[in-house]
Amino acid sequence: MTTQRIQENEANDTVTNALQSLHIDIDARVSAITATKADWPCRRGCDGCCHRLAQIPELTEAEWRLLQTGLKALAPDVRQDVYQKAATLSTQTPRKITCPMLDITTGSCLVYAFRPVACRTYGFYVERDKGLYCSTIEALVNEGEFFHIVWGNHDTINRRIAKLGAPRLLVDWMKIDTSTNIRKEVD
Ligand code: SF4
Ligand code: SF4
Repeated sequence: MTTQRIQENEANDTVTNALQSLHIDIDARVSAITATKADWPCRRGCDGCCHRLAQIPELTEAEWRLLQTGLKALAPDVRQDVYQKAATLSTQTPRKITCPMLDITTGSCLVYAFRPVACRTYGFYVERDKGLYCSTIEALVNEGEFFHIVWGNHDTINRRIAKLGAPRLLVDWMKIDTSTNIRKEVD
């Protein structure tokens, strides 16, 4: 193995560890929040946020590598369908983007364990002067339901994600993904 390859592997390990650490901290915040309210609205099958993405998903290379693992585990026809839907994203109307990794029939995420950071924080974290809630949660907040919730700080998450490297659009990661042999079928 060349010195350059060894250094690349070490750099990959560092960002992978940083991503895992981020997941652990997010899981802890999510658990702390949901523990205070048994009927928390986010659950399997609640897919409003996956139907209304504000933009084409962006993710860092570490997040993409993890997501790739989930995509490769899908049945070939399902994976093919995901890639084909992703290829059409740029033609969809902004603010009405449906995530290509959503199983429309069941309302569940096809790659749940491998999903990007943004999907893990949504509904549980807020940015300064800017809520990150869906309309369901926002309505409950406005009704005073969640006055006791200690929301996660998304500004901190943004700073930690920035250390993982430059993000790319999901569709761009998929285009440069040569390992699944799907590129030829989509292009
Ligand atoms: S953020 Fe909103 S739409 Fe998404 S799972 Fe939670 S309650 Fe449902
Ligand atoms: S990756 Fe999964 S959780 Fe995230 S928006 Fe897509 S379907 Fe929803």
